[in-house]
Amino acid sequence: MTRILIEDELKGRSEVLVTGAQRKYLCTVLRMKPGEEVILFDQSGCEYTARFVSADRRCARLLILARRPSKSESPLRLILAQAILKAEKMEMVIQKAVELGASEIYPFTCERVVPVLRSHRKISRVERWNKIALEASRQCGRTRTMEVTRSLSFEEVLERRHSVDLGMLLCSRGEIALGRLACKLQRPNSVLIVVGPEGGFSDRELAMALDQGLLTVSLGPRTLRAETAGIVAVGLAQHRFGDLG
Ligand code: SAH
Repeated sequence: MTRILIEDELKGRSEVLVTGAQRKYLCTVLRMKPGEEVILFDQSGCEYTARFVSADRRCARLLILARRPSKSESPLRLILAQAILKAEKMEMVIQKAVELGASEIYPFTCERVVPVLRSHRKISRVERWNKIALEASRQCGRTRTMEVTRSLSFEEVLERRHSVDLGMLLCSRGEIALGRLACKLQRPNSVLIVVGPEGGFSDRELAMALDQGLLTVSLGPRTLRAETAGIVAVGLAQHRFGDLG
């Protein structure tokens, strides 16, 4: 069934008026008729079955029939900090991270990141990333939209280690393999995974990460592309600590 994100909170409401692009999507693209049903969701983690009642040139009216908690959101708060990649690769990582149930993505720059964002492009790039995240959320049936933050510095990423239970920095020379680490730990509620650029992290950056209490974690004996490492690590963490498998 068609899924539509509603910006305002839906809790406690029996009727919803949909305007702008969403009205156009319902009426012109989907050509919805009175009596047909859609699924609405806000950012609260619940979803709602709603019936299309009527529409005019300004808004469409929908009646809420049922509300239920969403099963598509993981109990794990899973954040992927990914050193900024070339455009298509970054977009693919964002899309896959949404499908795997990540909560947030922190794009970041560090010493060996190659694609430098020109300042006039910064905003539109972040907007595009968030649009990709929103489309992927809709496609895979999520009720929360994964947020892609503005581009952060490596130091800002490390500071955010303190808002999660477990912080990991991926590095082929890591102290421990992700799978083995997972067996040793009590289930964390929140995890931050930091993935480096194709050139890897510098020794200075590795030292800074250790200083901030991040564990250096390996994903096995082969060197993975940065985009592969990000996607695999999110999948493994969701499998070990969240709702995958
Ligand atoms: N030449 C670099 C390779 C970088 S690969 C180096 O020797 O470090 C890009 C990023 O992917 C790395 O910074 C790391 O975060 C992650 N990565 C790739 N392979 C990995 C592995 N086997 N274990 C852990 N992380 C890995």
